[in-house]
Amino acid sequence: MKWTIIEIKSNVRTQLIDITNRVSEELMNTGVQNGVCFVFTQHTTAGITINENADPDVTRDILTGLSRLVPMNGEYRHAEGNSDAHIKASLMGFSLTVPIINGRLALGTWQGIYFCEFDGPRHRQVLVGITGK
Ligand code: ZN
Repeated sequence: MKWTIIEIKSNVRTQLIDITNRVSEELMNTGVQNGVCFVFTQHTTAGITINENADPDVTRDILTGLSRLVPMNGEYRHAEGNSDAHIKASLMGFSLTVPIINGRLALGTWQGIYFCEFDGPRHRQVLVGITGK
């Protein structure tokens, strides 16, 4: 299986960054027609998710909802002071699996792949693994 790295630069502390086109580019480079695409991030304060890419208010509302669930300041013990980012990252998860059908990511019409920054701005990386024929 071929693994490549996508470099990401976040601009603010919390941000959902649409990486669908960049993952698709990695798929195009392999020429795989049918298989599986894995997306994985090695960070502990950033995650990966799929959600709507049509209305930008959706990603805004996700960030607002997560901040309501997990406030930045709370009864945390982690000395680095970014416990909210660690918790939000675990809620989103660190990996995805997307089917590849007829040379394309088999995402739903309104689905996009998002890198979820919770402790930016930072330089980040996402691993993309593609397998199939
Ligand atoms: Zn930390």
